[in-house]
Amino acid sequence: MHRLKSVPPEKNLLDFLGNLQRTHYCGALRASDEGRDATVMGWVSGRRDLGNLLFLDIRDRTGIVQVVFNKESQPSAHAKAEQARSEFVVAVEGKVIKRQKANPELATGEVELLATKLHILNNAKTPPFPIEDEINAAEETRLRYRYLDLRRSKPHRNLALRHKIVLEIRKTMDELGFLEVETPMLTRSTPEGARDYLVPSRVHHGQFYALPQSPQIFKQILMIGGMDRYFQIVKCFRDEDLRADRQPEFTQLDVEMSFPRQDDIFHVIETVMVRACGVAGVKTQGPFPHMLYKDAIRKYGSDKPDLRFGMELHDVSQYFTSADRQPLGLSGSIFALAATGAASYSRRQIEELNERGISLGAKGVYTIKVGGDGPTSSLERLMGGKGRLIQIVEAVGAKTGDLVVIVGAQKHIPGTEAAALVTGQLRLLLGEQLGLIDKSKWQFVWVTGFPLFEWSETDMAWVSAQHPFTGIVEEDIELLEREDPNEKGKIRSKGYDLVLNGNELGSGSIRIHRQDIQERLFRALGLSEEQLRSRFGFFLDALTYGTPPHGGIALGIDRIAMLLAGEKSLREVIAFPKTTAAVDLMANSPSTVDGEQLKQLGIRASQRDRKIECACGGEWRIYYDEISAPINVPSQLKCPIDPKYVYLVPDDLSGITLIRHRAPLTQKWADFYRHVEDDV
Ligand code: ASP
Repeated sequence: MHRLKSVPPEKNLLDFLGNLQRTHYCGALRASDEGRDATVMGWVSGRRDLGNLLFLDIRDRTGIVQVVFNKESQPSAHAKAEQARSEFVVAVEGKVIKRQKANPELATGEVELLATKLHILNNAKTPPFPIEDEINAAEETRLRYRYLDLRRSKPHRNLALRHKIVLEIRKTMDELGFLEVETPMLTRSTPEGARDYLVPSRVHHGQFYALPQSPQIFKQILMIGGMDRYFQIVKCFRDEDLRADRQPEFTQLDVEMSFPRQDDIFHVIETVMVRACGVAGVKTQGPFPHMLYKDAIRKYGSDKPDLRFGMELHDVSQYFTSADRQPLGLSGSIFALAATGAASYSRRQIEELNERGISLGAKGVYTIKVGGDGPTSSLERLMGGKGRLIQIVEAVGAKTGDLVVIVGAQKHIPGTEAAALVTGQLRLLLGEQLGLIDKSKWQFVWVTGFPLFEWSETDMAWVSAQHPFTGIVEEDIELLEREDPNEKGKIRSKGYDLVLNGNELGSGSIRIHRQDIQERLFRALGLSEEQLRSRFGFFLDALTYGTPPHGGIALGIDRIAMLLAGEKSLREVIAFPKTTAAVDLMANSPSTVDGEQLKQLGIRASQRDRKIECACGGEWRIYYDEISAPINVPSQLKCPIDPKYVYLVPDDLSGITLIRHRAPLTQKWADFYRHVEDDV
């Protein structure tokens, strides 16, 4: 991939660390150290050669210090410094002196180190991107060379902040009487609404462990075991379609308490969050406000409302008669908001809103401009004059200069407000565009009163809105067995979410602690007696041995760290993140495994393809199908770009069907070997 632009000195010219001892971190030197002897160690991050004077910037985790090599006074150190290149690892012995002209950009800017000796401890290839704060390299390149990306100061700052947050959380939980208990990683499926990552068992062929989607069942069992207050900073694994703000493995603060009232759990979490925010310099205070789920949907079109700005939604369904709805093709409810000062939006901006609304699932987005001489809208003709337009403008509280944005949904999905949800998304977009969001605010809110079930269009069934262990409001328990499926949508859960600035930080609930109710719930979800026994039998049994009322919550540590670090992507606060395609570009995982390993596990991979980097910078790709009969594949293939690179075809793959090579610059594929099964 990378060419060796700078290789000197030869490996045998490298120095050993020996007994050399670091006296100072690079970023620690200050004017008060003037006159001291110092030995610093780190990476060469910059080099300026002025003939008699040669300057190297040396970087370590704490920052950068300038080192000066003087040809006259220290000729041998100077000569050695001439060999140093970017990212070489060095140790410098010298004396701290005042700089003639201070550099206010650097914390160490008042001083420099006058070198007496340079030790080159290791050399380095030229990195594929410069190690600087401002970075233009593609994220793919940064992830592939994560070790270089991590050398920049921002990842250091972010990981240090994350460490402090986690440490503070641990301290707080300890002070509040919680015990950190580890739960297994090789376990059985815990339903959290995603797919499991499975691990095949070698000892029991055909059987699998599941990596935990969460420790949910185990933490409840810890309550049955009398642990009373549990927490864990724990990895969870969910195989779901990834979005920018999701990672297949992520870290949670997982909490469970016995005999809690909802308020007790809230109080614990408020204490933890206020202190975690504190270490990031963010001042907040409990108690956090509460909002009912139905109000969050009705007013903000979201179950994670961003309360840093207003622009609330209004249900304007009543202003549309069925005669209006028919030509517009609307049958569900209609929501609207007054976009502050957006009457000046151009046609194109309005068209963009419309397109966004439709892509989010609306049937149509309509607008009313509120000008000095009243409302204007394309709806006027349809609605037979301005009368109802004026009513809508008043209902949403729009002022002159505002734009009323109206969203209609095509169909009514049970238990959801499609139009409200789309309007809620447009609210966020408009809030951002119009600069209405106060970015200095840290607005926490507890959302409560969730429905127990939600309608899944994919499964065409009612599914748990959270997970199937969520408690049920007592008066609604009887609705579990109701025949009328719509009654299911009315059952209220004892679940809650913690939301910060429009981000869901986590969710939890008071649990079902009675075996009979848990069993009824599973049945209401459509589990057969057999499924219920095989999946949850052990848990249902445990519930029968004196289970205390209990409840808890889990918060996403990655997301908390991301928000407190002021980052937009989770990848910025995770040392080794995966891409949105769930790939670790550095370690190259997932990857294929040896046939032998598969054999031991009793597994046959029917179809795979294998990617191998070619030394020319391109890539080999082998497609194969283990089911097809073994065939003769050449054991060596020459790279079409540079024939000195040879690819040794693995001999453990029998049914290769295609081998291709991709050129590094043109990205063009060349087919090398194609096997066509004989048609019999
Ligand atoms: N297990 C849940 C989750 O991971 C949290 C909880 O209910 O405590 O989202």
